[in-house]
Amino acid sequence: MDIIVVGGGTSGLLSALALEKEGHNVIVFEKESYVGGLCRSEKIDGYSVDIGVHAITMLDNGPLIRLLNKYSRYLPNFRNYGDYYIRTDKLHRIPVSMHEWMTTPVIPNKDKVLITSKIMDLMTMGFTKDASVYDFVKEMGLSSTSVDFFNTIAYFLSGEDLENTPLWRFFTGAGYIPEDDILPFIYKDMKINPLKSTLVKKFGTERIINILNDGFISSIKNGSKKYINKFMTEHRYSTQGYPVGGVQSICNCITYSLRNTQIKNEEVKKITKNGKKYTVKTSEGEYTSDIIVYSAPAITLPKVAKINKIQKNKEKLSNIKFTKSTTVWIGDEKNYFPYLGSEIWIDNPCWASTVSNYDESLAPKGKHLMGFSFVNSKKEDALKTIESKLNLNTDKVDMLYVQETVPEQASCSIGQFFVYPKIDDTFFVVGTDSDPRSMGITRAAYSVEVMLSEFKNIYDTQKETAKK
Ligand SMILES: Cc1cc2nc3c(=O)[nH]c(=O)nc-3n(C[C@H](O)[C@H](O)[C@H](O)COP(=O)(O)OP(=O)(O)OC[C@H]3O[C@@H](n4cnc5c(N)ncnc54)[C@H](O)[C@@H]3O)c2cc1C
Repeated sequence: MDIIVVGGGTSGLLSALALEKEGHNVIVFEKESYVGGLCRSEKIDGYSVDIGVHAITMLDNGPLIRLLNKYSRYLPNFRNYGDYYIRTDKLHRIPVSMHEWMTTPVIPNKDKVLITSKIMDLMTMGFTKDASVYDFVKEMGLSSTSVDFFNTIAYFLSGEDLENTPLWRFFTGAGYIPEDDILPFIYKDMKINPLKSTLVKKFGTERIINILNDGFISSIKNGSKKYINKFMTEHRYSTQGYPVGGVQSICNCITYSLRNTQIKNEEVKKITKNGKKYTVKTSEGEYTSDIIVYSAPAITLPKVAKINKIQKNKEKLSNIKFTKSTTVWIGDEKNYFPYLGSEIWIDNPCWASTVSNYDESLAPKGKHLMGFSFVNSKKEDALKTIESKLNLNTDKVDMLYVQETVPEQASCSIGQFFVYPKIDDTFFVVGTDSDPRSMGITRAAYSVEVMLSEFKNIYDTQKETAKK
């Protein structure tokens, strides 16, 4: 099959790699002069600066590792991520387990019992898909310190405040319920019958029916001992990591593994279908293919793809919400975060880490590279926050570099529309707006797995029929 992949970020490159190895002819079109999208690093004054602060999730057996294990020539080297902290007067670990919630100095004592008993309640009573983190917080009458804490956590889990962050995002983000359990609901919203989707292969019909009937508590009810036990005991993010060489090393691993795929630095302007073939008009010319895999933001689909099924969903696609982020990178002799892991600040939500702690070569000798990712903050406010928090003058540091980005093509907010990776038998969509599970790179990889599974269902069946 001739396949055109639109966009050369994580999801586009992973799709190209898998489809090439499955025996297809693939061309990737990337509008920039480089590939990688957000999974990339830039050289700035001798520092190797990623696009945004990163932690890669689910490295034990998540979708990225599964795909790379199957299709790539080697695996990037990941260092254990360390811990997540919150900075108030001092540094404190972000509470996850019951014991941590009960003992954390971040939450006032009177709120601790309320919060832990509410989590236990939800673990036995359940909650609906549209419940927000705010619904969880408001009934308890928590202090403003605790409310601010949940608001900040909400921003980092979904890109939205607590009123717009689904409670399931908090529960999956903390690892209280499995990420997969949200799919039956999301697929229903997408008007995909979960019982006719690739989920059946993975879950089995009975589990999907249970989840749909019982809401988000099904998994806890059915495996209650396991999940409640997990909550009651120490529970760390041991499966997260940071890639040695920066996030560019993930992109390099994929591009190095590609053999026959052509990568063309051309912007895709228009896709039309004539009979069985697609015509793809780019900034440089016109190409044809049997299949399209679209990994550019799905919000741009109605403008680019003149295909019935896409035009029918024009309004939903055009309303996909996403969040903007400002990342400040500072290179300096002083290391403000001399530990493995990262910290979150509350007043102007910020996620900060010294990435050169994982790999010294990201900074010149004797220097450190620190990243500060803010949600919905202007550059001036971000710089002011850093200066007052760390008591430093950003004019006097060795290197200062600011990036304005959109971390994910769709925020995980209440009412968000995600696109199902299969539009029809020949048009597929991948990327962070076509899967709600996990974060960033892992989320992009999840979408590629669903696309591949649908792709193989169609083409393996066709091959079987042709043989007969
Ligand atoms: C501040 C910040 C923090 C982050 N933190 C994390 C983290 O901790 N963990 C994590 O896993 N991820 C994180 N990410 C996100 C992660 O890097 C991205 O979500 C992921 O790399 C997205 O991959 P993608 O393929 O879906 O999209 P993208 O990387 O956006 O790729 C889309 C590509 O399509 C190209 N394109 C668009 N339109 C066209 C067109 N018409 N024709 C041709 N090409 C086109 C674009 O140029 C781009 O290269 C973070 C990102 C940022 C910015």
